[in-house]
Amino acid sequence: MSDDKQQENTWNYLNENLTQWVMESKSHSMEGNVASYIPELANAPKDILGICIMDSQGQTALSGDHDFRFTLQSISKVFTLILALMDRGEEVVFSKVGMEPTGDDFNSMLKLELVEPGIPFNPLINAGAIAISSLIAGNSPAEQTDRMLHFFRDIADNSTLDINLDVHQSESDTAHRNRSLAYFLKDNGVLDQQVDDVLEVYFSHCSVEATCTDLARMALVLAHNGVDPIRKKQIIPRRFVQIAKTFMFTCGMYNASGEFAMNVGLPAKSGVSGGILSMVPGRYGIGVVGPALNRKGNSTAGVHLLGTLSQKFDWSLF
Ligand code: GLN
Repeated sequence: MSDDKQQENTWNYLNENLTQWVMESKSHSMEGNVASYIPELANAPKDILGICIMDSQGQTALSGDHDFRFTLQSISKVFTLILALMDRGEEVVFSKVGMEPTGDDFNSMLKLELVEPGIPFNPLINAGAIAISSLIAGNSPAEQTDRMLHFFRDIADNSTLDINLDVHQSESDTAHRNRSLAYFLKDNGVLDQQVDDVLEVYFSHCSVEATCTDLARMALVLAHNGVDPIRKKQIIPRRFVQIAKTFMFTCGMYNASGEFAMNVGLPAKSGVSGGILSMVPGRYGIGVVGPALNRKGNSTAGVHLLGTLSQKFDWSLF
């Protein structure tokens, strides 16, 4: 069978069965809880699950609550990392953050004090992403936020992508832990700007609102090593996508990244809104949302659904 024919068969099989797999995974939302430490996120319904899978021509397989709107939260950290790499280069970025998983919760400050030098272990934990926010080019938080938003819109090919101001306010009002992390970083010499200015940029990128289709579209660019296969243009240098995908593998699902690599075997990044961005390299961009989270902060139903898909199509890279 030709490669094209095989791909067409896979796509048809996917479309025929996706809704069934979504229904099966949806029951797993009952095992989790919607994040409430950011009060605005607690409004999300617990039992929804949606997915969008996009192929390189932009065809979509959609199922469940795929049009549910949610904020990117930690998923945004992948793209701010890429932007910081594009703005400052590898040397500067890796003078501020390390390259290793922590095994701790995403908002832990434990290792900042315990391990020398006191820089965050990686750019995907909160401390690391706060350090990365400070590196986005611009002379003020407003300029940096503007740059971030334009970059996100370009990758998502969606000029309407915007910040959810209610979530932004809610994050800011309750960011006691993130403020502590940022002051710690400031004291350790990691942040050049004022803490409040850096956090303003951080809250803004976490509060960008999207759908599964936006996630899938953004993931598609990563799946093709920085080239948008639809507009046929290079948006991100290959090396920086390589760095981002490596972090997604090792730290993208926090301290459940090993388990996720074992059961799903794809690069992925989750957020506390219940979103997961993942991809089948060279083929599909994937966006999933299921707001009920497990103890480690990942969508219970979303992780289950990606596990099912990976098994059915033998997507694991290992
Ligand atoms: N904005 C969230 C926070 O700072 C992001 C965390 C997450 O999605 N895991 O706590």
